[in-house]
Amino acid sequence: MNNPAEAARDPELASRLLERLHRYAGPPVGVMEVCGTHTVAIARLGLRSLLPDGVRLHSGPGCPVCVTPARVFDEALALAQDGVTLATYGDAVRVPGSADTLGEARSRGAAVRVVYSALDALELARREPEREVAFLGLGFETTAPTVAWAVKAAREEGRSNFSVLSAHKALLPAMEALLRDPEVAIGAFLCPGHATMVLGAQAYAPLAEEYRVPCVVAGFEPNDVLVGLVRVLDQVERGEARVENVYPRAVDDAPNRAALGVLDDVFVRVGSAWRGLGELPGSGYELAEAYGQHDARRRFLAGRSFPGREPEGCRCAQVLRGVLEPRECPLFGGRCTPEHPVGACMVSSEGACGAHHRYREAGAP
Ligand code: SF4
Ligand code: SF4
Repeated sequence: MNNPAEAARDPELASRLLERLHRYAGPPVGVMEVCGTHTVAIARLGLRSLLPDGVRLHSGPGCPVCVTPARVFDEALALAQDGVTLATYGDAVRVPGSADTLGEARSRGAAVRVVYSALDALELARREPEREVAFLGLGFETTAPTVAWAVKAAREEGRSNFSVLSAHKALLPAMEALLRDPEVAIGAFLCPGHATMVLGAQAYAPLAEEYRVPCVVAGFEPNDVLVGLVRVLDQVERGEARVENVYPRAVDDAPNRAALGVLDDVFVRVGSAWRGLGELPGSGYELAEAYGQHDARRRFLAGRSFPGREPEGCRCAQVLRGVLEPRECPLFGGRCTPEHPVGACMVSSEGACGAHHRYREAGAP
């Protein structure tokens, strides 16, 4: 089959790959799929129940909506209640803050707008120059460069009514924190296709070397995921720990210099709080001083503090570290469903709880 995209969905290849997974003869191993899109692909395939004994898959912290703590949603809510138009992604509107979601605040009249990107939010600021528009920016290196471009464009055109409430995060410090966590016990990573388009596959080399973990970058079609797992288990069997890129049709070994360049220009790395992982040094992107006039936190929230209370009973913190399966949370499927999410991991279809819930209902084990 010459077309790689077709091969990635070929059922015969899938059964050969599954057979190979079943011939695994290495030690017990926990493999973390870092990315929410992989979590969905794995849940859709019902892959967890098809794995050989001794191989466990853990969902990781790869969903930006899930890892953003309640305090950020409190900040966003405060902006919207103070009359700033708060623009953000659809998922973010449903995540609980300490008291309310942005969606609930909107139904009571707060100015909350759903957009697809920071550029849409900038367009909103252009169309309504009499309003302040703040974009709540969430995400890893995948989305942060677009936000940086929007900020640069705003500065170049002198658009002073556009700002960003940045909750962007760097992926690698979180992966390293998980490797240092003795409770988590990760033996290998299935690395995300999207963020790696920006970071480059070799970004994982220090983790692979220092912590002796195989890091395999995989795409999102069924056979992409299966090939990724086969390569992970090949390495574990042979006692190897290196970076492999089985998604070369989209990911290079080297970083995307243009994307990283704009990130470095507009943002500086700061300590940042993650749901489940706590405060991690150097893991957040805040607007650099030169772009301070577009920093919503500096402009509108300086000196204020927010409770940042996580929902009572929610176990997202453990789910995001891969130490608790979503269905082990006492609220899963009862008080917490995709229609009425209690915690962030149930909000989006790609959050671990959302993905597990959706495919359980569709009949996957
Ligand atoms: S769930 Fe939404 S925010 Fe989370 S990774 Fe997927 S698309 Fe991104
Ligand atoms: S099921 Fe709901 S409450 Fe439980 S961990 Fe998942 S999101 Fe949180």
